[in-house]
Amino acid sequence: MNVTTDPCRLTIDEARLALRKRELSAVELIRACLQRIAAVEPRLNSFITVCEKEALDQAQAADRRLASGDGGALCGIPLAIKDIYATRGVRTTCASKILENFVPTYDATVIARLRAEGAVFVGKANLDEFAMGSSTENSAFGPTRNPYDLERVAGGSSGGSAAAVAAGECLGSLGTDTGGSIREPAAFCGVVGIKPTYSRVSRFGVIAYASSLDQVGPFAKTVRDAAILMRSLAGGDPADSTCSTRPVPDYEQALTGDVKGLRIGVPSEYFVEGMQPEVEDAVRAALRQYESMGAAIVEVSLPHTGYAIAAYYLIATAEASANLERYDGIRYGLRVEAESLLDLYRKTRARGFGAEVKRRIMLGTFALSTGYYDAYYLKAQKVRTLIKRDFEQAFTRCDLIATPTAPTTAFRLGEKTSDPLQMYLSDIFTISVNLAGLPGMALPCGYDSHGMPIGLQLIGPAFGEEAIFRAGDAYERSGAVTRRPAAV
Ligand code: GLN
Repeated sequence: MNVTTDPCRLTIDEARLALRKRELSAVELIRACLQRIAAVEPRLNSFITVCEKEALDQAQAADRRLASGDGGALCGIPLAIKDIYATRGVRTTCASKILENFVPTYDATVIARLRAEGAVFVGKANLDEFAMGSSTENSAFGPTRNPYDLERVAGGSSGGSAAAVAAGECLGSLGTDTGGSIREPAAFCGVVGIKPTYSRVSRFGVIAYASSLDQVGPFAKTVRDAAILMRSLAGGDPADSTCSTRPVPDYEQALTGDVKGLRIGVPSEYFVEGMQPEVEDAVRAALRQYESMGAAIVEVSLPHTGYAIAAYYLIATAEASANLERYDGIRYGLRVEAESLLDLYRKTRARGFGAEVKRRIMLGTFALSTGYYDAYYLKAQKVRTLIKRDFEQAFTRCDLIATPTAPTTAFRLGEKTSDPLQMYLSDIFTISVNLAGLPGMALPCGYDSHGMPIGLQLIGPAFGEEAIFRAGDAYERSGAVTRRPAAV
């Protein structure tokens, strides 16, 4: 290890080497992250809960494991966890007042897996309430700010997880992605984020938003680090019947640096009017870079893209309205005492949920109600099938699809809060991937004139994560973009 580097600036790949060689201890590493957190949190608000004591205990245990030579794949690596994962003994709020004091008695499967690998949990990261949003401004605990410009949003809904990695508060993190919630904040904060194929990673213990779309995934500084984390996350789980038992490849082995002959599809529908020209320029430059490395660029069409937002916001809200029924003041979290049971439900939900969550519950309940089901929910499901077919068709002509991750770079705090439709439009390039159940990764491909990061999105066919990692890593290694550290 380069001794002049602040340990919190290391990649997971570098840190695990330094830890194994005992040039760095897990306790030193977590202390560096905690120091960084103390320095930047008052400005960023990436975390809802910082687990200082637990993290130090875990780091000590990791050092003992490392000394005995039986450290797991992530032994001593500090990670932040979106506050939507059940963590035994540590409160899990989902950024909602309704779960403000909810302390789970068990770990989500992925948390248990990371724990078994020796990971150190720095804290629970901020998000939009119940993962509903694109800016982390819908958090009951205040918004997360962008580490590149404190006046701008970090993206959402996993904004805290993205900002924490960008600012060096941890080496990697977990998010969830229902319509772009890993990829958009990754793009806005200049880090790597991947939403794996639907069913690739267990969701047991992950608080449900829209169950046919939700997926778990990591954030990291580099593509290699994301591949390292994915290896530990993916794989079958008897506790989650929706989780695939397909064997998990060694994603790191896919990182050959070679993209010769790779066919990259570019959908014309993803270069729309109104998008920030600098975003388009950076993505086109990345495509030229791929060409120079031996990949072939082919034009593809995803003709039903224009219906994706409408279909998504019907399906997601319908599923959310059903999933959020369980917060009734009886079983979990907040309870507002009242005269009658019905009144208790009403008062608890009225006080516990924020405005956006209420809007979604109402939209979803309406879309599912008698007489409207066929017109809205069923029709949206049919559109979903068409979108899925668009991708199947496109993947007969290419191996991967490349697009911008979002139409703009990070917008200003408050810019879209009064206009939900404008906010929903920032998901235009990410939600189709969830509707089709495909894997998609965001990785940095440049900066705009304000120095804000721009994200390239690579989309693969189902279970095509290896090709995504290979292509992402090859681009990163080419040095086409020099990463700029966050200003904070
Ligand atoms: N912005 C989208 C929404 O609000 C996506 C959120 C997500 O992926 N969790 O639904």
